[in-house]
Amino acid sequence: MSRIRAAFYDPTAARHDIPTYPWRFAPTDLLTRRQLAERGLRPGGQQVVAQVMWRSRRYNAPGGIRVAFLYDVRFALPKRPATPRQLAALAKANAARRTCPDCRKDAGYVLPRHLGICLICAYGPEAVEPMAA
Ligand SMILES: [Zn+2]
Repeated sequence: MSRIRAAFYDPTAARHDIPTYPWRFAPTDLLTRRQLAERGLRPGGQQVVAQVMWRSRRYNAPGGIRVAFLYDVRFALPKRPATPRQLAALAKANAARRTCPDCRKDAGYVLPRHLGICLICAYGPEAVEPMAA
């Protein structure tokens, strides 16, 4: 185990607030929220039981360290299917992400966050026309 990994290996929480593991060193019955979801499960009200820490330069991670919280799969509960109201709310939220605030049209794609407007408003119709012969 490398020095950095060793720094993150703290299964008894001697140095961290909760048991801590380096990337790929967590016990197999501890899963992230996303890993639970892949199995059709949700944390089910339980507290975070452990964390995974790893070095990363992505997302401007503070101190160059990223953290993922882990839940105990043994206490996880089946994921509840979304209700019609939740699905409607999601559809509405997704439509809002596609709707340009300048021209008020549904662009048909999620607006690029760095622009905040549709490509036509940003660059003009020429920029997004399909290649004309
Ligand atoms: Zn627009």
